[in-house]
Amino acid sequence: MCGIVGYVGHRQAYPIIIKGLHRLEYRGYDSAGVALIGKDGQIGLYKCKGKVDDLERFMAGKDAESTIGIGHTRWATHGAPNDANAHPHFSQSGRLALIHNGIIENFRVLKDALISHGYTFRSSTDSEVLVNLIEYVQDTNECTLEEAVRIALRQVVGAYAIAVIKRGDPDRIIAARQSSPMAIGIGEGEYFISSDAASIIDYTQKFVYLKDGEVTTIEKGKPLQIKNLYGEPSKVDIQKLEMSISQLEKGGFPHFMLKEIHEQPDTLMDCIRGRVNPDTREIVLSGVLDNKEHFLQAGRIIFVACGTSWHASLIGEHLIENLCRIPVEVEYASEFRYRNPIIRKDDVVIAVSQSGETADTLAAIDIAKRAGAFVYGICNVVGSSIARATDSGTYIHVGPEIGVASTKAFTGQVTVMTMLALLIGKLRGTVDSAFYHEVAGALLDLPEAIRKVLKKAPEVEKLSRIFTYAHNFIYLGRGYNYPTALEGALKLKEISYIHAEGLPAAEMKHGPIALIDAEMPTVVIATLDHTYEKTVSNIEEIKARGGKIIAVISEGDTQLRHRADYTIEVPGTVECLMPIISIIPLQLMAYYIAVSKGRNVDQPRNLAKSVTVE
Ligand code: GLU
Repeated sequence: MCGIVGYVGHRQAYPIIIKGLHRLEYRGYDSAGVALIGKDGQIGLYKCKGKVDDLERFMAGKDAESTIGIGHTRWATHGAPNDANAHPHFSQSGRLALIHNGIIENFRVLKDALISHGYTFRSSTDSEVLVNLIEYVQDTNECTLEEAVRIALRQVVGAYAIAVIKRGDPDRIIAARQSSPMAIGIGEGEYFISSDAASIIDYTQKFVYLKDGEVTTIEKGKPLQIKNLYGEPSKVDIQKLEMSISQLEKGGFPHFMLKEIHEQPDTLMDCIRGRVNPDTREIVLSGVLDNKEHFLQAGRIIFVACGTSWHASLIGEHLIENLCRIPVEVEYASEFRYRNPIIRKDDVVIAVSQSGETADTLAAIDIAKRAGAFVYGICNVVGSSIARATDSGTYIHVGPEIGVASTKAFTGQVTVMTMLALLIGKLRGTVDSAFYHEVAGALLDLPEAIRKVLKKAPEVEKLSRIFTYAHNFIYLGRGYNYPTALEGALKLKEISYIHAEGLPAAEMKHGPIALIDAEMPTVVIATLDHTYEKTVSNIEEIKARGGKIIAVISEGDTQLRHRADYTIEVPGTVECLMPIISIIPLQLMAYYIAVSKGRNVDQPRNLAKSVTVE
């Protein structure tokens, strides 16, 4: 995920691009760059690590005079955030410059082929492969740049929104998209492009949103024409946009947290893409496959994490013990680091963190490494300290998470842990092949199931209003959904400041049930799984003591629909993936309760997004 902007017309391009990049910074912010065609027809390319402010400082005093340009703010997926990997990227000859938002899944094969044709690379990005592929295609086919883009993109597997400019051609930008957003703003004899129309709304309200597989040459003073990858014309559907900028930066949602909750069908797809083959249902995680021996010999797996990542790790524990038959421990990184833990050389330590900067987790990694264990990272931010400190790992690829209360990172972490457990289980021969393929298939179906749950947002909002004034909550779950209960309670605490406690449902009778009265609502995850009947009994115990039950239940479960006071029905999937579905209504409930209490949802008091101190 990143932000791209472009301009071609009669105005100065640079100020438009910089302003647009600032507004797109919410989409990614690890490096930024621009390419402008000067009066002499040469492409001036300027880029650096850091934020758009850093780019502006870097540009000070440079000649930015140009009426055409492209700009990018990066959220690294391939290669660390540094100057070389920042966009735009030049082609080998320097004739073309390209910006790219997305992931080219088959970049390795394409890169090897280009290397065999004599190409060399200045960055470790997948995007540079694309610009060189376009150049190679144009050189070998002697065709127009647009044709070369179309031919090249036909060889590409993955997601992209791209813009390409050519030396000596100050009137044209070629743009294309597949799975990543791209809006074209239409002005008077001028065009704008952007990942998010909001960034250019000062200049025009007329937009065309490119569809998947569409390519266009936007040319100063010429009407817009759009084609598909085979050159066949597509309809140009101009839409008028009447939204405020702040609304649009949050994708039309009032808060980043709500936007991030609603993004989950897409972020899960981004997480799975290129890792679960939809045809064969085989899983490929290079971080595991390249280090097979460590997972084959592992005597034990230790998760180290904090907060939401610790909850995801508890689900990881169930998954790995079930599918890989390896003993697992889940440690709070802050406890682990000060506890003189026993770590053996055949241990695999898995460090989990959204930001990849969590200080306690970094310290735990250091201890594990010094003890000789193999350390695997699961984080979101590419090139982060944890990504660099671990021996290997898997990114969750859910895009920047801005809301302080983690939502899409949690579901991304559980998704990665599922793929990890399936793959290790397969390597070790502990997972039944039919089950392996069933779960892999269920992963592919998750986005649709989540979409279904998200449709219930108005229902959850109504329900949340009833409970806005509760002072305490209990959250209960069993098995895979016990960590879901912990995570649901944490969401509520973080953003509404209501005290909430998550517990394994059966623990109630060992003490906490003393808290139950009509003032203490209990949220129970009671979907149909192998502990369902037991959970129903726990619900009865609470009801018998005058407690109110809000239950997350499986679609069509009439028994609980009648027994619980309030229910939210969710679709089913394989048991081990249920947390990814059942957490969604709990995220929504926490959000709506916090909103009705007037809390600052995206920046709750006393909290920071990335905990880089002990
Ligand atoms: N895959 C590209 C990179 O890592 C683009 C990432 C983005 O969308 O910012 O540079």
